[in-house]
Amino acid sequence: MSGQVRPAGGPIPAELAKRVALVVFDVDGVLTDAGVYLGQSSDGDTVELKRFNIQDGLGMKLLGRVGIRVVIVSGRTSAANRVRAGELDIELQEDDAAQKLPVVRRLMEEMGVGWEEVAMLADDVPDLSVFAHVGLKAAVANAVPVVADMADWKSTRPGGHGAAREFCDALLAGRGQLQEVVEAYVRERSLP
Ligand SMILES: [Mg+2]
Repeated sequence: MSGQVRPAGGPIPAELAKRVALVVFDVDGVLTDAGVYLGQSSDGDTVELKRFNIQDGLGMKLLGRVGIRVVIVSGRTSAANRVRAGELDIELQEDDAAQKLPVVRRLMEEMGVGWEEVAMLADDVPDLSVFAHVGLKAAVANAVPVVADMADWKSTRPGGHGAAREFCDALLAGRGQLQEVVEAYVRERSLP
């Protein structure tokens, strides 16, 4: 592979990127454009559909390849979230009462990591209980002002339209690992 791999937006500073061990992704507004399609099946069951971004999914998978734990944490329960997380084989934590802090605290205890080793990609107020503490605060382009104002890094792309991929690439680039991770991925798919 001869091309230079680079993130779509600005870099994440190395001193922030290199200490990250756990990355938390919000769903609505971060992995989606915050919209939901609501309808009803012929049995009268509510049907909820969301549109995810395939490029985001690959970025999240690539993060896992350098030993970073990737967890999707949603403040809503949704079958669409479970289908998407299952397809990516990425851990999903859902809390219907939008209590994200205890969820992330438990993950950190399990891993024995501190807040400075946690990164979060966020968009809205329900993320703040966690976002306020993490060592790397990343906001999507469509984040509400209070989240954007606190962020160490902001994507140029909005949620559901490549923001998560941009973040994953920028994080790997900040760690000096983006080129090698992508080259290894391509190499594995270039075998006869
Ligand atoms: Mg959100």
